[in-house]
Formats: sequence, C-alpha cells, structure tokens
Amino acid sequence: MKTTKNSQRLFKQARRYLPGGVDSPVRAFGAVGGIPRFIVKGKGSKIRDADGNSYIDYVCSWGPLILGHADRRVVKAIRDAAGKGTSFGAATEMETRLAGMISAAVPSMQMLRFVSSGTEAAMSAIRLARAFTGRGRIVKFDGCYHGHSDSLLVSGGSGMATLGIPDSPGVTASTAMDTLVAGYNDLDAVRRLFAKYPDSIAAVIVEPIAANMGLAHPARGFLSGLRRLSKEHGALLIFDEVISGFRVAYGGAQALYNIKPDLTCLGKIIGGGLPVGAYGGRRDIMQMVAPSGKVYQAGTLSGNPLAMTAGITTLEILNDPSVYRRLEEKGELLQQGLAAAACGACLPLSIAREGSLLTVFFSAESVTDYASARRCDTSVFARFLRGMLEEGIYWPPSQFEAAFLSLAHSLRDIDATLRAARKVFKQL
Ligand SMILES: *Cc1c(COP(=O)(O)O)cnc(C)c1O
Repeated sequence: MKTTKNSQRLFKQARRYLPGGVDSPVRAFGAVGGIPRFIVKGKGSKIRDADGNSYIDYVCSWGPLILGHADRRVVKAIRDAAGKGTSFGAATEMETRLAGMISAAVPSMQMLRFVSSGTEAAMSAIRLARAFTGRGRIVKFDGCYHGHSDSLLVSGGSGMATLGIPDSPGVTASTAMDTLVAGYNDLDAVRRLFAKYPDSIAAVIVEPIAANMGLAHPARGFLSGLRRLSKEHGALLIFDEVISGFRVAYGGAQALYNIKPDLTCLGKIIGGGLPVGAYGGRRDIMQMVAPSGKVYQAGTLSGNPLAMTAGITTLEILNDPSVYRRLEEKGELLQQGLAAAACGACLPLSIAREGSLLTVFFSAESVTDYASARRCDTSVFARFLRGMLEEGIYWPPSQFEAAFLSLAHSLRDIDATLRAARKVFKQL
C-alpha cells in the first residue's frame, strides 16, 4: 500500500480552517472515499504528493493544463511577466493580443471580455443575454455545469422539462424559477419550453459537448436544433465552452460541429493554468457591456497580466493542427486499451471520448444524458479509482467527470495506465 501519512495529516489540519478541508468540493474525494492526496509538485504528465508518491495525472487541474504541468515555456512567460508587475488594474496590450488570438480561433466571438473564472463568464453571459433580449428566463440542461452562480445552480427534476428547483440551499426559489431545465439531447423538451413560455426566454445555455456529467456527445441534430429554435423564438444561444474550448479543437466544439452561437463562454485552457474566463460573441451584443454599454460587469484582476501571458503562450503552442492530431492519437490508444482491458475482465464498461477528453462509465449502456449517467455503478467506480491510485494513476475522483490527457502524456504513460487498468479491472 502506498503511504498517505502526510496527506492524512495535512487533510486533518486543513479541515480546521477550510470547510471539508478543500477549496472546491470534488477535491475531498467524498464520492470515492480514501484520503485526498496533497500535491506538492507537478511536471509534465506527473504529479507528486506530500508522501513522495508519484502519479500519472489525468485530472490536469480539470482541463487547463493541456500542455501538462509546469510547461517550461509557460513558466518562463509567467516568470518574465511577474518581474514586471503582477497586476495593474489598468489596460495592458496583452489583453488585446489574447483577445485577438481567441477571436481568430473562434470567429463567432467578434468581441470578448476577460473575467477570472468560468463561473463569472457564464454568469455574465446570462446577464448580458437578459439585457439584450429584455427577457428573464433561461433554459439549461440537466447535468450541464456552468459554474456556481445562483441562477445556474439549478438542475432538473426527472429528465422531463420542468421548472427549476434549486440544487443548493441559499439559492432562492424565485431565482431558480427563471431557470428552465431540459434533458440533454432532448430537443422536444426545448420546443415545449419555448411553446409554454413564448417571448420570455432570454437564452439557451448548453455545453456543446457535455463534460460535467462525464462526457456525453450531442446527438445528431441537437445543436443545430437549438440554433434553429433559439433563433425562431428570439432567444440567444450560449455555448459554454469552458472545457471544450481549445480542447476538442483549436476552434472548440463550435468548429467541430460548425454551429455559430450568439455568445460563448471560455475558461480553463485560455488561462494556461492561471485563473481566467472570458465571454464573448456578436459585436452588437457585446457592445452592450459597460463601459461601451449599460450592462455592468467588472473585475479587479480581470485581464491579469500573468494569466494573459500564460494564455497567450499556451495558445501559440496549440495553434498547430498536429497538436490536435497527437492528442487524438493518445486518446484513441487510451480508449482502445481500456476497452480491451474491460473486455478481458468481462467488465461492462462504456467509454466516451472526444479527442483528449474521456470518461469510463461503469455501465453497459452508453451515456447520452444525465439520467443515463446516473445509472452508472458509482461504487464500482470508487473501487476502480482507489485501485488506480494504488497503481500510481491519478484519475478524476468522480464518475461524473472527464479525464484529461495532455500533450505531455507519453506513450509510456499510456502503457503504464493500461497495465494498471488491466490489473484493477480484474479485481473489481
Ligand atoms: C469548469 C467549468 C465552469 C466553471 O469554471 P470555473 O473556472 O471553475 O468557475 C463552467 N462551465 C463549464 C462547462 C466548466 O467545465
């Protein structure tokens, strides 16, 4: 058994001051049991914990680290920028540079605004959509995550389109009431919502490739249907590409599926491992944001120079088609190897993958929405997770998350991962 003595001690100390010992819930390993590892160092595909254990990391900070940990080019850029000052609260040229790179990659984002997290990006995009349309309601999908702002912390009743119920105490019923929920991939449910609430829906917000219920692909015609319906009914279509942006393709999911949303939310990769988010889209809509328009939104650290630098350096490296080919090859090897290992162990598994994003669902059926995701065997997943940790593989500690491959993951890393999976699958 790997020793976790130091992580245990640090976790105990942390719980005195931090609720649950962490600053973001999944980190506490609540869904899988065991001791959350306290990380001291990361380099490339690997991380090391406080007990000196080394792991091949498939969390990669939940997406931002597509180049791997402590990429030398990104670290150098951050170091150089830090020497010139860490924040000014005034305009810098770097913001325009990164905005230009993003707009070139994602042409639907004619203008954009930087914020400090994906949560802020989605929250601000919703406010803007409401202001632009003069309407109050929004449609979201069961199992899609758009950060933790009040009106987006609402999930569905039972797959059926229904009035939102708050997912968290502290979200008022009146806030949740304006959030309508449909099942992912259920275009009919969206049609019914537009029929039931004509002229009052400001926006439909969706993860074009869902990656927060585990990975689920949009069904054929789902995204184009959303595009058509929202246009017909005078509502905006918002793609939350905080995960998929610069991950599934340089231009994000909207490039893969060739759909043009009105607004897009980004985060994660565009900050190169530092706190960044962005929302943007049609010029006529974005011009409503203060100070060019009246929709207020601001941030002390927005467009932070270190974060801009890390983002620029990351995108410069990603702007090369061979990058996404390599990520696809690695993803394919991992998927095929895991499928073969499951087959060898007679384990019913369904693996969803898009490029370097991958979820192993402990279920025989493929996952198309949150209802099917929830039918997975989470107790077997928990044993899988703990077994993999023991073998030196740091997999996302929840069935409802995607694993992230980076450019730093080598074929040897993938081999080692498959060897571990073959062993662990047999024990399940
Ligand atoms: C991570 C995520 C967010 C929230 O971003 P934070 O930076 O954690 O606030 C929003 N939407 C999606 C799709 C995400 O994956």
